[in-house]
Amino acid sequence: MQTFQPPRRILMGPGPSDVSPRVLAALARPTVGHLDPAFQDLMEEIKAALQRLFNAPDHACIPLPAPGTAGMEAAMMNLLEPGDRAVIAVNGAFGGRMADMADRAGATVTVVEHEWGRPVDPARVEAALAEAPAKVLAFVHAETSTGARSDAAALCALARKHGALSVVDCVTSLGGISVDVAAWDADVVYSGTQKCLSAPPGLSPIALSPRAQAAIKARKTKVRNWLLDFNLIMAYWGGEGGRTYHHTAPINALYGLHESLVALFEEGVQAATVRHARMHEALAAGLEAAGLKLLVDETWRLPQLNAVRVPEGVDEAAVRAHVLEAWDLEIGAGLGPLKGKVWRIGLMGASATPWHVRLCLTALCDALAVQGVAVDPAAVRAAAEARLAA
Ligand SMILES: *Cc1c(COP(=O)(O)O)cnc(C)c1O
Repeated sequence: MQTFQPPRRILMGPGPSDVSPRVLAALARPTVGHLDPAFQDLMEEIKAALQRLFNAPDHACIPLPAPGTAGMEAAMMNLLEPGDRAVIAVNGAFGGRMADMADRAGATVTVVEHEWGRPVDPARVEAALAEAPAKVLAFVHAETSTGARSDAAALCALARKHGALSVVDCVTSLGGISVDVAAWDADVVYSGTQKCLSAPPGLSPIALSPRAQAAIKARKTKVRNWLLDFNLIMAYWGGEGGRTYHHTAPINALYGLHESLVALFEEGVQAATVRHARMHEALAAGLEAAGLKLLVDETWRLPQLNAVRVPEGVDEAAVRAHVLEAWDLEIGAGLGPLKGKVWRIGLMGASATPWHVRLCLTALCDALAVQGVAVDPAAVRAAAEARLAA
């Protein structure tokens, strides 16, 4: 075997995003024991930082030791028991995954299907909640498979009105657009480190309301998975009465998350959301000047995930291969019904900078020219620069 040397890539797909040198440096610091007093201080700092980032002062906030999907699985497995009813709004790939997990937890699942690219419709969700009592209403705030944002405040309010616990997937939203758990009065909210937090994949910050914690304590049956059983994991992360061994925390990954949170608070969470919005506007202006169209209506567009329609006659995969080979730039493909129909361009965390916008537009113009599409790279660049200067 030989040492693995990854190629130098610029990550502008649906995740992971570019990891900054300071976070990479943090990951390389010496490993300590997971019960070391210094490490316990780090755990407490991370818990407090996550409460602040989610704006969830009354929630238990911890990072689960696995990628964003673990937060989803923890939410479903901890809240749902056989016989419970769950209403799941599906407007893309990740909503579909939630429904599968709720089904595996033994719940009776009502799926409220939407066209991909549209936000979740609160009126249709309310109709499903009104049909019969539901324990859980779950939806995706920022649907990464399409680039659509849904109205988390309105959907969480419906859950409260109908006595259901809300589960909100904020994997792609956290750090990129406003996430306000207290204002939404949301119950279980989870995220991931590899999207707008710009740390490597592998951790899933999660927040649980007192209501959600009480519901988990009141279960009639044991949580079906052991690692993500919140009752067990909190004996380790909770900190009250000393920590008991549960699993060995991914120590260095947590150094990385901690550093990414330090960087985010240095910039300011609000400033970071403004930066994501500005970079999106510049990218969108350039794409429009290139004759390209975004999938999602302007009102519901996510700044951090831009689904771009592939023009007629253009080879979707060839464009992605060209920008990777010629520019070391990774952009994403479409999933499910959007396969071959869109590119997904991420502007997440450390990948949301003017330099990334310029690189992406230049590389795309180059790839489109190879495909025989007439584009004027100077005009594309000028359209983006006008927005960057505004
Ligand atoms: C990326 C993503 C996930 C899954 O996160 P992983 O880190 O890939 O496990 C879940 N939900 C949404 C909306 C995502 O974008």
